[in-house]
Amino acid sequence: MCGITAYCGKDNALPFLIQGLEKLEYRGYDSAGVTILDKTLTTVKCKGRLQLLVEELQNYNLNGHIGIGHTRWATHGVPSHLNSHPHTNDKNTISIVHNGIIENYRELKEELVDYGYHFQSETDSEVVVHLLDYYYDGDLLKATQKVLKRIEGSYALCIISTMHKDEIIVNFDE
Ligand code: GLU
Repeated sequence: MCGITAYCGKDNALPFLIQGLEKLEYRGYDSAGVTILDKTLTTVKCKGRLQLLVEELQNYNLNGHIGIGHTRWATHGVPSHLNSHPHTNDKNTISIVHNGIIENYRELKEELVDYGYHFQSETDSEVVVHLLDYYYDGDLLKATQKVLKRIEGSYALCIISTMHKDEIIVNFDE
């Protein structure tokens, strides 16, 4: 269980993401994190309570109009900085947050490591961002649809990318 937030609009995304995470913090106290899309993706995350993230964010001047956020209740991988969401691909062009469990993540991870992908975390969730990178050929929605055919389990996902500066993909399993 976790809390995920997303914002896409005319205003600075960060205050909306934090307000949402404050409301959802009870869903996971293991870590909190955000990615803001401006010219690039900037991800800031902290092990522990949301307040620690809010304090850490004072060292940044984030001002983008799209972003995603997460408070984690760990299911795969200990509570730690590296296991905190959001997770990004090797090129830092795609960022995701995930609520739920990817049951077949071990097989997918082996496949992706064989393709040369580098995993930063022990989470099940990270396979999603590398699979997106693998399937991406210019259309983020199509890549997401291909990823959804590969993953088994339960999920709510939010996905943003530097290649799609006015788009958030949000998906829930049925
Ligand atoms: N399974 C993911 C993890 O352990 C997401 C957990 C959650 O829903 O908070 O990072």
